[in-house]
Amino acid sequence: MKILNKYGLAVKPARRKRFVDQVICAYCGGAGADPKYSSASGCPVCRGAGTVRVIPPVVACRQCAGAGRVGGDLTCLTCKGVGVVSVPFGADTCPRCGGTGAEGIFYCIACKGQGIV
Ligand SMILES: [Zn+2]
Ligand SMILES: [Zn+2]
Ligand SMILES: [Zn+2]
Repeated sequence: MKILNKYGLAVKPARRKRFVDQVICAYCGGAGADPKYSSASGCPVCRGAGTVRVIPPVVACRQCAGAGRVGGDLTCLTCKGVGVVSVPFGADTCPRCGGTGAEGIFYCIACKGQGIV
């Protein structure tokens, strides 16, 4: 049986063990430096590594549209600045907001603004 994840890629059902993946830090864009302060302090999200370890599968954060930041230099609370959020296998589009993560001017409480449940 073929299972498709959020990316439309086939997922092997036998692979139950979760592995760790790395993504480019969205907050600093992989530079490893804090864009807000001096480069000596390093990025607060990836601690200067430029990449962040995540547990796949992940989807782009809907709160910050994958930018890792909201309102300028504030770290996005939903993804903690990483730009992506881990979702459970078999996670589906939130029926309450239809995957937009928003409900009117507020963010959807059913999926906490992530658009998936
Ligand atoms: Zn960073
Ligand atoms: Zn975010
Ligand atoms: Zn929702």
